[in-house]
Amino acid sequence: MSHYDFIIIGTGIGGGTLAYALKNSGAKVLLLERGDFIPQEDENWDIDAVIKQKRYQAKEKWFDDATGRAFQPGTYYNVGGNSKMYGAAFPRFRKEDFEATEHPEGLSPAWPIGYDELEPYYAEAEKIYLVHGITGQDPTEPYRSSPFPYPELELEPYYFDLSERLKGAGYHPFSIPVGVDWREGGKCIRCATCDGFPCKLLAKGDADACCVRPATQDPNIKLETHTLARKLLTNASGKKIIGLEVEQNGENKTLHADTYIVACGATNSTALLLRSANAQYPEGLANSSGLVGRNYMAHINSTLIALDPKRQNTNIFNKTLAINDFYFGSDTYKHPMGNLQVMGKLQAAGYLRRGKPHLSEAESQEMARHSADIWVMSEDLPDPSNRVLLGSEGSIRVRREFKGVGSHQKLMEHAQTMLRTIGFKDMVSEFMPIETNSHQCGTLCFGVDPETSVLDPYCKTWDLDNLYVVDASFFPSSTALNPALTIAAQALRVADQLKGTLGS
Ligand SMILES: Cc1cc2nc3c(=O)[nH]c(=O)nc-3n(C[C@H](O)[C@H](O)[C@H](O)COP(=O)(O)OP(=O)(O)OC[C@H]3O[C@@H](n4cnc5c(N)ncnc54)[C@H](O)[C@@H]3O)c2cc1C
Ligand code: SF4
Repeated sequence: MSHYDFIIIGTGIGGGTLAYALKNSGAKVLLLERGDFIPQEDENWDIDAVIKQKRYQAKEKWFDDATGRAFQPGTYYNVGGNSKMYGAAFPRFRKEDFEATEHPEGLSPAWPIGYDELEPYYAEAEKIYLVHGITGQDPTEPYRSSPFPYPELELEPYYFDLSERLKGAGYHPFSIPVGVDWREGGKCIRCATCDGFPCKLLAKGDADACCVRPATQDPNIKLETHTLARKLLTNASGKKIIGLEVEQNGENKTLHADTYIVACGATNSTALLLRSANAQYPEGLANSSGLVGRNYMAHINSTLIALDPKRQNTNIFNKTLAINDFYFGSDTYKHPMGNLQVMGKLQAAGYLRRGKPHLSEAESQEMARHSADIWVMSEDLPDPSNRVLLGSEGSIRVRREFKGVGSHQKLMEHAQTMLRTIGFKDMVSEFMPIETNSHQCGTLCFGVDPETSVLDPYCKTWDLDNLYVVDASFFPSSTALNPALTIAAQALRVADQLKGTLGS
């Protein structure tokens, strides 16, 4: 029987980055993943296979707890987790995001650590994930101790022109930091099938390419795929985990380590803790606060597709431009509203058709060739009644009442006014429903008080001595920016803490 220093469950940004940080530390690490590697195949970039047939999407159903309706979640079970499919936008959270802020619909709580604590880890994570960016364009950006590791991606000519028009109208568009291998001699070809697709060339800065593969070069770090974590087992006192029951290729077994790190993503990490309920923890492991699964967040999102007959389809990587002018409010609305960022071109046709259902597929594709496509993203405020629960036979139920919709509507109005100012007339917008859970977070928040948080500031569960959670679950607030870099930075911070426990 093998014994490990650490078992890490899940190979997404949280688990993958942690494994990477433990390489060459001497630690014996077992990295578990329920899925497999996504093969490099033609279907990676095939719109029909990826978008229509959902080739890589999790096949299971989750349930909307309010209505009982089943839905297929926008989540991915494979080595690298959701990062295999992401748009690789890598902004740091703003310094103010770590502080408490009153919104009209509730409080965005303070984090137990400030931006300063995470700053060096942000810098390290940007290097690992090949982040390209530039400072001095975004008025909301926090300070940095070092420049971006790689220069910003050039805007495609259409968005360069749009950016100049926005600047002329007094706005501050900026190059959003992006993690792709666009280095000298790098593998990225800046294709149109990035955001929402796996990279056929392994050129995306995802957790598989940048972390899991390099980490497993260390003979002390072993990856086992097709291994579903079912239940964590505790000792008699209930203070320690003594084993993990898994189902591996159809066979049940129990694995052992000194320390266990759950990194299954905000929903599945909760599900694992709830499934692990026992006599000492009837409401689920690490749940003395009663908060396991609560405060589920996933951003409040809409698409805004602005038609521009003059635009010619350039069919290249689009996700390079963002706007934070309304992040903290505006002259007319003095509350945080959120972020605007250009989205991948190929999704536009689908969203356009949903917003204008009378269009045929060919018509929507033709219109999407002539549009500017913007993702409108606002903070999803934490609410304990928004939560992840287990249903019959261990199925996942999600209760979600969007909180922060008023500010999101204001952001949409500001975005539309901005676009009208520079000449756009016809726009289609669509609000994203419960299925859009790509930025899922919260559920096991970290904090300084065991009564009001599940994890301590180093993501160790308050209730158990050798159980950590290192994925998007720890966020006490969602902020209004893409989460991956912050998940990675905290994983690196926790890794430093875990390395300190080796041999003790
Ligand atoms: C289409 C799309 C676009 C996105 N674009 C961006 C972007 O541009 N920028 C950004 O910052 N973020 C983006 N995101 C979000 C980002 O991908 C996630 O926030 C991030 O990857 C979450 O990492 P995680 O470690 O929390 O969890 P996950 O990525 O969910 O990883 C969890 C892992 O655990 C595995 N697992 C789950 N349960 C078990 C179990 N019981 N046993 C074993 N293994 C298990 C899963 O298979 C998975 O590999 C996007 C997401 C999507 C889907
Ligand atoms: S843009 Fe680059 S990183 Fe993204 S899928 Fe295309 S080749 Fe891969």
